Amino acid sequence: MKAAVYRSKQRFEVREIPTPEPGPGQVQVKIHRSAICGTDVHAFMYDLAPSGAVLGHEFAGVISAVGDGVTRWKEGDRVTGGGGDYPLGEVPPVRTHPRYNYRTMGFTNTVTRGYAEYTLLDDWAPLAIPDEVPDEAAALTEPCAVAVHAVRRSRVRLGDTVGVIGAGPIGLLVTQAARAAGASRVIVSEPAPGRAAAAKTVGADDVIDPFEQDAVERMVELTGGVGPDVVFDCAGLKNTLQQAFDAVKRAGQVVLVAVPWEEMPLLAAEWMAREIDFRSSWGGLPEDWQISLQLLADEKISASAMMSDTSFVSLDEIQETFEALMQPTTQLQTVIRI
Ligand SMILES: [Zn+2]
Repeated sequence: MKAAVYRSKQRFEVREIPTPEPGPGQVQVKIHRSAICGTDVHAFMYDLAPSGAVLGHEFAGVISAVGDGVTRWKEGDRVTGGGGDYPLGEVPPVRTHPRYNYRTMGFTNTVTRGYAEYTLLDDWAPLAIPDEVPDEAAALTEPCAVAVHAVRRSRVRLGDTVGVIGAGPIGLLVTQAARAAGASRVIVSEPAPGRAAAAKTVGADDVIDPFEQDAVERMVELTGGVGPDVVFDCAGLKNTLQQAFDAVKRAGQVVLVAVPWEEMPLLAAEWMAREIDFRSSWGGLPEDWQISLQLLADEKISASAMMSDTSFVSLDEIQETFEALMQPTTQLQTVIRI
């Protein structure tokens, strides 16, 4: 089968590798759509992924073979690339290790995943895709679960005003998840015109261009001088966490959703006297995946608004696609058609 194998130093090699055959309790998935995650772009950019890894964890496809003992799936079933409930004792270290460190422990895996024609999953791992959710949208179940998890970890309540910094795929999904959770107003800060327009399409009430306006001042102004109830940092750039703290209202909450790989200076004296709460949010739990599929099925979250004609690439274009995604970008969600 064809796969994009990471070869270290920002190089993918698209080549034939053996098609994996399912062992007992496993299913083989023929991948139809594989979305590119910012985490993978970071793994490429900072050369974190081990050589030989086939990355990609945002995919949708069909069951193409089942191993011995598998009764819950049959060939042709449409599935996501994850979201199932972990069996007892198999919860991964990211959820259980008392000192889990994503920087040092996050990229150890060389299991063949989503940037390939086929992959293997344990039979408990996938979720069935509802008929009304197309493959493109189903491939976004994982980032959608990240957004749902962040909003469920936040204290967004019915009628709240929410700030979202960064309208990449995660910011666009957090905007929609916050809306679905009852936020009455969402203010987004995003400089790239394509992403700013997409933020409007998915329901942002106001979109600030932080290169044109002071994002903090404008968020405060738009909220009658108090600041949003909750601000999500979905950018993770050098100044965005400080912006979130500066913008949020007294006793409000800042939620860090992006994964910043570089130091972010904070001048706490600016905001700490307003007694702000902080939460980080990591990935999505099985319940977040299930909620995401329901929100996609009900069209409370639109995946199509996050894609354009230029969103779709082939596996053969993966190298240049990743190189382009390292730069500040106007791309929306990029999806590999396999
Ligand atoms: Zn992801």
